[in-house]
Amino acid sequence: MSHINVDGKQLETLELFEVEEVRNDFPILKEKFSGPKNSVLPLVYLDNAATTQKPQQVLDAMQYYYRHQNANVHRAIHKLGERATAAYEDSRKRISRFINARSHREIVFTRGTTEAINLVAHSWGRKLIGRGDEILLSEMEHHSNLIPWQLLAKETGAVLRFIPFSRSNGTLQIGHLEEMINERTRLISVTHMSNVFGTINPVRGLIQKAHDHHIPVMLDGAQSVPHLPTDVQELDCDFLAFSGHKMCGPTGIGVLYGKEKLLEEMEPFQGGGEMIGSVWLDKATWNEVPHKFEAGTPDIAGAIGLAAAIDYLDRLGMERITLYEQKLTTYALSKMREISGMRIFGMAPFRGGVISFYLGKIHPHDMAQFLDSKGIAVRAGHHCAQPLMRKLEIPATTRASFYFYNTFSEIDFLIDNLKQALEYFGYGTG
Ligand SMILES: *Cc1c(COP(=O)(O)O)cnc(C)c1O
Repeated sequence: MSHINVDGKQLETLELFEVEEVRNDFPILKEKFSGPKNSVLPLVYLDNAATTQKPQQVLDAMQYYYRHQNANVHRAIHKLGERATAAYEDSRKRISRFINARSHREIVFTRGTTEAINLVAHSWGRKLIGRGDEILLSEMEHHSNLIPWQLLAKETGAVLRFIPFSRSNGTLQIGHLEEMINERTRLISVTHMSNVFGTINPVRGLIQKAHDHHIPVMLDGAQSVPHLPTDVQELDCDFLAFSGHKMCGPTGIGVLYGKEKLLEEMEPFQGGGEMIGSVWLDKATWNEVPHKFEAGTPDIAGAIGLAAAIDYLDRLGMERITLYEQKLTTYALSKMREISGMRIFGMAPFRGGVISFYLGKIHPHDMAQFLDSKGIAVRAGHHCAQPLMRKLEIPATTRASFYFYNTFSEIDFLIDNLKQALEYFGYGTG
């Protein structure tokens, strides 16, 4: 298999990595659990849309920081402080190159995707949104890209509108875009890749169309940046949010990318140390971007860990990662479709390695518990997308989600156990 198409882009035929070598970098993948009758269950980790595992290289980088560089940043005159500041700011540059930003000033460190979207809703929204202005989202958003806008709408009197998705295959009905845009539309904020359907949305076309109307676009990249090559200049998105922990980095660190001009226009997010220029008792001026948005002591070790994760991903190659995951997903989908009673939610032509399903009448929580008893970690629930579930008229799904360290034999193991679940819960196979 070659020439795999990601959002219209052809990937060349690439030589893939040795997955067993890759797995050796992840100590946690060797974890085992005790099963029934003194059996040993190896971990089969298929909950990567929730969070990913960390390679030794990331753990080492963070430990190195604490052992050799730890001090507060941007303040100290001493040598250790200079080391910490250099390591922290180098991480920002590293991230900037990874997504091909024009400048490292366009990279704001946050706690994650959620905080990055809240930052935009707060600092951009409260300054530029008024009563009757419209913000366009989609019906498939994670709560992180819904609630901040609901809060903003409640405060300002703005109106939220939603691009619908197709119930049959979980794709955005982008044809509605033109009729949904009007002179009051101020921002479009959509997910690049759905954490429920795995759909990779056609964001390049959406952004072009929005820009024809001078409307900025924010992308929720929590699922896309870890799995697809990302070039913010090529996409031409105005904001992009993503989380370190979903791309082999630590928890507690994430990124808001914003075009410098937009960041300059925005008010600060939180107030405190570091984000200021000069302070009087009754007023203050702000530091330059991105520091204006980074009040207080940041997660320095987290930033360094995220840069190490990016080094790791880059060494494997993002295009290779995409290609490998597409092969894994195509294989899993074809095997799953052979199981009688299987309903898969999300059959977009361009999709990532997130598979939401419902098997027979087995409740997703029972399914997840059954799989857990075999050592397989999957997620069951509404996946922080309750409006999406409501539209599908289901309470929950079971979700298996992959990363580049998953193997074809793990997929086979999952498939075997899905079949066993049918027997176990009394639905048989025939
Ligand atoms: C995980 C996720 C988020 C939230 O990310 P946090 O790291 O919890 O802030 C937002 N959107 C999507 C699509 C996600 O998958």
